[in-house]
Amino acid sequence: MREIKYIILHHSATEPILNAEDTSGAELANVICNRARTHWQKEFPTYRCDYHFLVGQTGAIFKGQPVTLPAWHATNYAVNVHSIGVCFLGNFQTGIMKRAQFESGAMLVRKLMHLYGVPLKNVLRHKDVVSDITHRANSTLCPGKNFPYIKMLSALSEHAFEDISPVYPYYEEVEFLKKHGIIKGVDGKFLPKALASREEVALVAYRILKLILN
Ligand SMILES: [Zn+2]
Repeated sequence: MREIKYIILHHSATEPILNAEDTSGAELANVICNRARTHWQKEFPTYRCDYHFLVGQTGAIFKGQPVTLPAWHATNYAVNVHSIGVCFLGNFQTGIMKRAQFESGAMLVRKLMHLYGVPLKNVLRHKDVVSDITHRANSTLCPGKNFPYIKMLSALSEHAFEDISPVYPYYEEVEFLKKHGIIKGVDGKFLPKALASREEVALVAYRILKLILN
């Protein structure tokens, strides 16, 4: 297995779907991958897609290039060799990302970070990568000026529980309580709809009082 150091975020710079029937973006993802496959087939017979994962507007995730192989997506050879490319279907130079796509994409990136030990500072937008052609960053607009990068970094930060994102209505409150050790979660999850036992409520009360009285 190659060493994964970076996760690079892209947009498809297209409509999020191919046609009215393609609600999830599955057909569009196919078209994008087929185009890349045709382009690289002679040189790389096992090539499947320029992206390892594609995230549709409803949050559906499509697999492209196998993670074991590099894909040509970041306009930098060294980064391509050591990265995973994630493409969000849609144009975020002009459009706004919907909640389902954001949440699903953030959850995917978080999983990949854990799986391959990629630090948050190495989750980059395509435009942050120094291009081999121009030798500077910002040689592309990808993934677009409206791509919610800061919000995504915040959702991926270590403070956060993996099952809630910044669009969750009590995100700040929950993060605050976690930071102060009042709530601890279960296996990295907050489980917002789970019931608390009398024992857990007592522990929360104890931690709050201890913090105030100390
Ligand atoms: Zn890109």
